[in-house]
Amino acid sequence: MEMPSALIEVVRNARRVVVLTGAGVSAESGIPTFRDAQTGLWARYDPEELASPRAFKRNPKLVWQWYQWRRDLCAGSTPNPGHFALVEMERRIPEFTLVTQNVDGLHALAGSRQLLELHGNIGRYICYDRRHPVTGWEPTDELPPRCPICHSLVRPDVVWFGEQLDAIVINRAAVAAERCDIFFSIGTSSIVYPAALLPQLALEHGAIFVEVNPNPTPLTRFADFVLQAPSGVALPALVQTVWPEVDSGS
Ligand SMILES: [Zn+2]
Repeated sequence: MEMPSALIEVVRNARRVVVLTGAGVSAESGIPTFRDAQTGLWARYDPEELASPRAFKRNPKLVWQWYQWRRDLCAGSTPNPGHFALVEMERRIPEFTLVTQNVDGLHALAGSRQLLELHGNIGRYICYDRRHPVTGWEPTDELPPRCPICHSLVRPDVVWFGEQLDAIVINRAAVAAERCDIFFSIGTSSIVYPAALLPQLALEHGAIFVEVNPNPTPLTRFADFVLQAPSGVALPALVQTVWPEVDSGS
């Protein structure tokens, strides 16, 4: 894939880079979106009936089973070449922040370290009442299981409809966006707030804006560079062009 020479130059010289990823990156690993996972028995529910505090209070077992279904759909999915290319970028750029809207944990699995998971991670658990991190529980027939510390119900550590994003996480992402030389928007339509705020902040503060997406989005017209391709194609090509010494075997 051909890379614009001006883009190669700015990436090579960048000191601070922020990347925002969305569902498109996960889709390339075969992970369905929330709505795409709503097949069969799940199709008749509104999303808010499966993923909100109100839903969990009313029917915690249903919500638990919905997340179990989604974890099962993700089982066996592995990071794709786009995930690994972002790990390579992090190794070569002095300040690199990866902000993701995805909850599947594949960026961490690939090896990304400076990672902000805006919407949480379906592979992690907290308790409902006090948000204790929960890593295990006594075998039980009761679903959901209960927190070993406070005995409240265990829930996935994700952001539900009607919940605020973690203020510390979104603030760290916003500060990074304001300071960056280059902002990449990858596999996301960038229209869901507050994530949509990040490219705006970067643009207002003079960052170069790069979009990687097979399809145009509402932000495409603001982009300095558009790589109209799947991230699993565009990102490895970018990394290998900017840093040709990189071993492509990762
Ligand atoms: Zn607890």
